[in-house]
Amino acid sequence: MIIYSCIENLLQYAQSHLLLDDLDVIYVRNKLMQSLKLEDYVQYETDVDAIEEMTCPDAVLNPIVDYAVENGIITEDGREEFADRIMDTVSLKPSEIVDMFESLHSTSPAKAFDWLYDYSIKNDYVKQTKIAKNKHWEAKATKGKIEITINLSRPEKNNKDTAKLLKQKNTSYPPCMICKENEGYAGHGVYRQTLRTVPLTLGGEEWFWQFSPYSYFNQHGIAVNAEHTPMKVDTSTVQKLLDFIDYNPSYFIGCNAALPIVGGSILTHDHFQAGLKQLPMHKAPCLKRFKSAEYPYIDTCIVDWYNSVIRLESTNKKMLVEYAGKIIEAWKNYTDESVDVIAADENGQHNAVTPIARKSADGKYIVELILRNNRTSEQFPDGIYHVHPEYQNIKSESIGLIEAMGLFILPGRLDRQLAEVQQYLTREVKYSREKLADDMKVHADMIEKLMKENPKCTPKEAELNVKDEVSRVCECILDNTAVFKKDEAGNAAFEKFLSSLDIEAK
Ligand SMILES: [Zn+2]
Repeated sequence: MIIYSCIENLLQYAQSHLLLDDLDVIYVRNKLMQSLKLEDYVQYETDVDAIEEMTCPDAVLNPIVDYAVENGIITEDGREEFADRIMDTVSLKPSEIVDMFESLHSTSPAKAFDWLYDYSIKNDYVKQTKIAKNKHWEAKATKGKIEITINLSRPEKNNKDTAKLLKQKNTSYPPCMICKENEGYAGHGVYRQTLRTVPLTLGGEEWFWQFSPYSYFNQHGIAVNAEHTPMKVDTSTVQKLLDFIDYNPSYFIGCNAALPIVGGSILTHDHFQAGLKQLPMHKAPCLKRFKSAEYPYIDTCIVDWYNSVIRLESTNKKMLVEYAGKIIEAWKNYTDESVDVIAADENGQHNAVTPIARKSADGKYIVELILRNNRTSEQFPDGIYHVHPEYQNIKSESIGLIEAMGLFILPGRLDRQLAEVQQYLTREVKYSREKLADDMKVHADMIEKLMKENPKCTPKEAELNVKDEVSRVCECILDNTAVFKKDEAGNAAFEKFLSSLDIEAK
């Protein structure tokens, strides 16, 4: 296609989907021409109707990037950076985004977040086409359903770039991957030209909201402290989570535990994960109801879930913050050696809490506290309450709040590796432990177990058997994360902890 026609299509797309103002069209066209090293121009007609139907910019963006490669303006490696630069040129500036977002928010918080999410797809910050390739399934489990995603949308090279960024973090700009300075930034292999954020006030502090480019679930994003300050979980965290819920009642929001092994991947910068999604744990019923002597009107229960979760419900925000804060502080210092729970030792603090908040349909605040511990032992050097070694071929990274609630984000490598496992099950490829490629060796035990259980499968059966096995492993991983195991001793110990806070069974 002629390049002038491509530019006109992109400009029309920006007018239709990105709120490009008529008064800015000539100016933006000239910017695009400069990026494409063009000095003369011929105007072409566009198919307005077809462009208005588009749900993402691929069809108008890719031809421009192809042109840049073919004409030596960029190299093949520069595609992603160039595409983001072009989309940034036709997108609104951060201040214009904030104005629009806040004006929508004043009438409907949900509409404002919907709009910003849609804008982020339309300007290619959230790469919908790549995300659509992710594998996702629901698995029937002993406690309702769990959800499993194999995430292919993170480009492979990001791992290296992230490592590079981490090594350079003392001298490099921005201070970390989620600092506010990333808005519009491109460097160190990280492209955030099209990132747009909106301000939040949580617990009286300045924070901001941004969507995640990898979209682990619908409208997945993070609320980030405007200051680069370490993660922490205390009473003020619960206050901030509930402030966010007031600002956007349709989302859940949670904070990872502030310790390694049981926390998220970024501990150096305080942030929360949120989104428009009901996670499996949210659907889990109460297992047993309790009553606090100090807060008798706040509904308290242990949740019927794999790991150790306390659910609190109330319309009284102030009391709920206080109550949840007291449980968090008590857990940080709670030791019960009879069930191997040790709050802290010579290696440091081990007990930690993952708090999650949302609003019920009838307007009650719901706070869930997942009790965590990151102690290691000789038998479990990676963590007693971490993924046990026999399951690490599926997932070895820390189990953060999203997974602890039953939505697994598994690494992209599994897509290819599990397809190979299926070929052994159908006996299409002859299995030999010795001949497995290096990155397949971790799966040897699983392959042999599955082959023994399933004599020659059809391709469909093989696919289902592999999925069932991954689902089973994910359930076992959730069991691993329970600080109080789901047996008599574990249940009694959980109640003993609550009893230490004057919280007794009803
Ligand atoms: Zn930071």
